[in-house]
Amino acid sequence: MADVESRSWIGGEWAAQAGEIVEVHDPSEVSREVGLLHLSEAAAASEAVEAARYASAAWDRQGSPARAEALSAMAAALERDREAVAALASQEMGKPITEMRGEVARGVQILRFYAAEGVRAVGEVIPHSQTQVLQYTTRRPLGVVGIITPWNFPVAIPLWKIAPALLCGNTVVWKPAESASLTAARLAQLAAASGLPAGVLNLVVGRGSEVGQALVEAAPLDGLSFTGSTATGMRVAAAAAARNIKYQVEMGGKNAAVVLNDADVDLAVSAVVSGAFRSAGQKCTATSRIIVQDGVYGAFCDRLRQAMRAVRLGPALHPDTYVGPLASEAQFEKVSRYAHQAARATVVAQAPVEGVDLGAGYFVPPTVVTDVAPGDPLVQEEIFGPLAAILRCASFDEAVALCNQTVYGLSAAVFTRDLSQGLKFLDAADAGMVRVNQETAGVEYAAPFGGLKQSGSHSREQGTAALDFYSHTKTCAVYYGP
Ligand code: NAD
Repeated sequence: MADVESRSWIGGEWAAQAGEIVEVHDPSEVSREVGLLHLSEAAAASEAVEAARYASAAWDRQGSPARAEALSAMAAALERDREAVAALASQEMGKPITEMRGEVARGVQILRFYAAEGVRAVGEVIPHSQTQVLQYTTRRPLGVVGIITPWNFPVAIPLWKIAPALLCGNTVVWKPAESASLTAARLAQLAAASGLPAGVLNLVVGRGSEVGQALVEAAPLDGLSFTGSTATGMRVAAAAAARNIKYQVEMGGKNAAVVLNDADVDLAVSAVVSGAFRSAGQKCTATSRIIVQDGVYGAFCDRLRQAMRAVRLGPALHPDTYVGPLASEAQFEKVSRYAHQAARATVVAQAPVEGVDLGAGYFVPPTVVTDVAPGDPLVQEEIFGPLAAILRCASFDEAVALCNQTVYGLSAAVFTRDLSQGLKFLDAADAGMVRVNQETAGVEYAAPFGGLKQSGSHSREQGTAALDFYSHTKTCAVYYGP
């Protein structure tokens, strides 16, 4: 298979027959074709589950130290190929190359983290009410796990699901987003080259509404992990619950950064600019609401305007680009509609667009607006683009109330020099990840990650929390004699 093609990879073989073929164009320069997708039809979901089921018993029998070795080999392969993977992803979905390099390095760390988990103690010994009985818990794999991923972290999100799933002894059927399927095929190639047995990881490339839906609604899965929009995630959760499949869904966000009167304004501004605009705002943890207390409002807006002048919009492969294009035409159209609405509000700050060929790609200038009501769609809906809104508040309590006035609950941050206010915010903010003097975006691979309310299904990913999801706990008891 050519590097710039993607097709399903099932039972250790690339799908021979092509279904629909779709051209992939570089979002930084839409006239440039970067590869081809051979989309599979719905039947591929069940074929992949069958291949995964066939490989399941032998993979389970290998034991976790051997599976850990396989993850280490994948880490080494990804590290060797890091520059090519980063460049391919940048051209496929428009993330600036500097960020993409960081994401690939994160992918290597995730694989190594779970490889290390493979030799750690599992379970606990629990006293039994009878004597001469050894009672203990152990972990068993779920079986065949379906993994459905979005395009915005084309390397890190798939790996933070696949690595713990494989380590726990599951085999996997992975359905990547259409806009990240070239990168997905590259990762599958690396897994194959690193010696992962056939059928342990299977890739199904196709449309969410066909292959994704078939995986969720019909394929005989034992577990399902989804990351994507809230609209799709709620449907996935309902289908999995109806079939009593263990599932987790990680969904959208509308994350707030709260800047209180005693904040270090320079720190707050740099965290807001990075949190709102890296990845062109296409992070589930992106800062999209900025809640600023009256006493610091003027100073914050002045510093923000200054900082935004230095934000470089440009093509993803340019080494100086800070904000790249949006990932796809659909994204561009959706975000442009919000940008149009934002033109009604007061623009506080905007990144310069001089020297950028805006028409060549899916570029939307990073913009911060104010004078919008808390109920405005710009403040309530997940835009998933480089637009953020400032809301003013008079007090700490009002700031917390505004922060929590959303259906989402993924990430929230407060900027303050007062430890007491910071700690009170951590208690009061309705979000799965809460921070003091740090941006809302960014995750730690060793720590639990996930959201409240409509941001997730209340389980956690990453760290050792992922091992809880990808396994059953069995309670074992052995009577060893009178
Ligand atoms: P999406 O919901 O459109 O697609 C996600 C995945 O689901 C894709 O692989 C898609 O092909 C598949 N899919 C689509 N329809 C399906 C169906 N009917 N059945 C099964 N699968 C289906 O989301 P997206 O546009 O790819 O990603 C952006 C969204 O992801 C944003 O809302 C963002 O907040 C969210 N996200 C959340 C997290 C998190 O951890 N909470 C992380 C990253 C992105």
